[in-house]
Amino acid sequence: VGRMTCGWVCPFGFIQDLIHKIPTRKFSLWKPLRWVKYAVLGLMVVIMPVVFVDASGLGHPWFCKLVCPAGTLEGAIPLLFLKPTLWQTVGLFFWNKLAVLILILVGAILISRFFCRVLCPLGAFYSLFSRISLVQLEFVAGNCVECGACVRYCPTGVVPNQEFDSRECIMCLKCVDVCHFRALDFSMRRPPGKPAKVKRATSPL
Ligand code: SF4
Ligand code: SF4
Ligand code: SF4
Repeated sequence: VGRMTCGWVCPFGFIQDLIHKIPTRKFSLWKPLRWVKYAVLGLMVVIMPVVFVDASGLGHPWFCKLVCPAGTLEGAIPLLFLKPTLWQTVGLFFWNKLAVLILILVGAILISRFFCRVLCPLGAFYSLFSRISLVQLEFVAGNCVECGACVRYCPTGVVPNQEFDSRECIMCLKCVDVCHFRALDFSMRRPPGKPAKVKRATSPL
C-alpha cells in the first residue's frame, strides 16, 4: 500500500498533524530536503549497522539510538514516568535524543509533516513502493479547474494535480476530499496503459 501507513496508521505522523495545528506562522519546505531521508535510510539504517559492529559482531540500530523521535516520545519518556527509578540510568544519549525530539517537534509545528518529509527512513523505505502499490490516486485532468484547494490541503507538499503519483504522497486522501470537481479520486492501481475512468464533474455548490 505504499505510504498509506503514513497517512492512516503511524502515531508519530498523527502527532505531527496535531501539533502543526498550533497557531503560529507556517513555512514551506525547501523541496531538495526531501532527499535527506533517503540518505538517512542508506547511512544510518543500512551502512552504519553493517560497518560499526560490537565485539560480538552485531550492528546497532543507529537511527533508533541517535535520532528516532517516536521512540523517545512514545517509549522512553512514558517509561521514565511510569518507572521513576529508571531516571538513575539516564545518560547523555537520552538528553541528546530529547534535544533532537524537541527540534523535530518545533520543525513539525512550523512545517507540515517535517519529520516525515525530511528525516524518516521508514517513510523513505515505504516510498520506494509507492509506484507499485495496490492503490493509487487518480487524476482526471478534464475536470480540474486549477482552483488550488488540493495543494493547500496536502500535508506533504505534493501538488496533486501535477504530481499525483508522487513518492511523497501518503494517501491521506485530503486532496480527494477537498476537490469539489471530482478531478481526484482513489482507486486500485490500473495496469500500465489503462486510462482512468472519466468522472463527470459536479458543481461545488
Ligand atoms: S514518514 Fe515515518 S513518521 Fe511519518 S508517518 Fe511515515 S512512518 Fe510515521
Ligand atoms: S482541488 Fe481539484 S479542481 Fe482544484 S486544483 Fe486540485 S484537482 Fe484541480
Ligand atoms: S497528494 Fe493527496 S492523498 Fe497524497 S498526501 Fe497529498 S493530500 Fe494526501
